[in-house]
Amino acid sequence: METVIADAAYEGRFRLAKRYIEEGDVVAFHTETVYGLGANAFSDEAVLKIFALKGRPADNPLIVHVHREYDIKPLIDGEPPYAAALRRAYLPGPLTMVYPSTGKVSKYVSCGLNTLAIRVPSSPTAQEFLREVDLPVAAPSANLSKHVSPVTARHVYDDFNGKIPLILDGGACGGGIESTVLDCTGEVPQILREGLVTREMIASVAGDCKLYRAQTGEKPKSPGMAYKHYSPRCRTAYFTEREGAIRAYDEEKNAGGTPCILCEHGKVPFLGGRETLDLGGTGEEMAQRLYALLRKGERSATLLIGIEPEERGGCMAGVLNRMRRAFGAEHGTEES
Ligand code: AMP
Ligand code: MG
Repeated sequence: METVIADAAYEGRFRLAKRYIEEGDVVAFHTETVYGLGANAFSDEAVLKIFALKGRPADNPLIVHVHREYDIKPLIDGEPPYAAALRRAYLPGPLTMVYPSTGKVSKYVSCGLNTLAIRVPSSPTAQEFLREVDLPVAAPSANLSKHVSPVTARHVYDDFNGKIPLILDGGACGGGIESTVLDCTGEVPQILREGLVTREMIASVAGDCKLYRAQTGEKPKSPGMAYKHYSPRCRTAYFTEREGAIRAYDEEKNAGGTPCILCEHGKVPFLGGRETLDLGGTGEEMAQRLYALLRKGERSATLLIGIEPEERGGCMAGVLNRMRRAFGAEHGTEES
């Protein structure tokens, strides 16, 4: 199968995408967070294709994506007032909301959970695609399972060339890390995965917001968080201070390897001219650059060394979560 990368200049790309989705095929598309790998959420067969293509564990549920005018009421069994307020405040945008499900979409979307995760992406490419198909589109990130999430069409192509017919190219993703996943089934909203919509932003609208942390041995509420994730395909090492990183770098260099240090902008001048990948200075910059730099690092380095950036509040919680997991410093509750 030929994989076509279709950017804005490609005539009729949304009509083509609609045809593929209606035929039960899988199409990759730009969003403001990372690229998604989408299929018709009503079709068992189409949804199962996503799991097979990614090598995704069968107990890691998918997020359903809809356009901004799509009526989600038939898909969900009620909505607390705070969730309606959050939708008005932050959607379309990088916030996924988990509701009690009516079971209308394929049972494989939620992997046996009685809830459904819904997101309305703000990317114009995603909106136009979703409007054209006018169906809920189940979509995880468009990377092979456990690999780094894709933030350009080229990243998707590198993982799925010859396996999917179409990538809707919307350029580089401005957000850069996956959406915040918020459980809206309880009295108080609870963050299951941190992202660009922060706990403070949610609490400011909903009055309160909890952060879920799975207890050891407990089945996680958001099963995806249990898996090793976002990992570059080279050896990695992770440090909270630069001395350890410099030692690991020099050892690797002396052994004939090509090490590289991934760190925030402020630390670069203190690394004595060693090879670095610069994450930038703000939480937003780091979110936007992290995955592209992990993919760049895995192509050139034999050892990619991360130095933990300072916690600066805002979206840094999400950045730190992804970075620790990419470097194997935090695996969730179990490894897979
Ligand atoms: P991905 O799209 O690859 O970023 O992964 C989707 C994330 O959303 C994973 O962490 C899933 O566990 C989570 N998720 C999807 N559906 C649900 C749901 N019904 N309840 C809780 N978490 C969910
Ligand atoms: Mg993913």
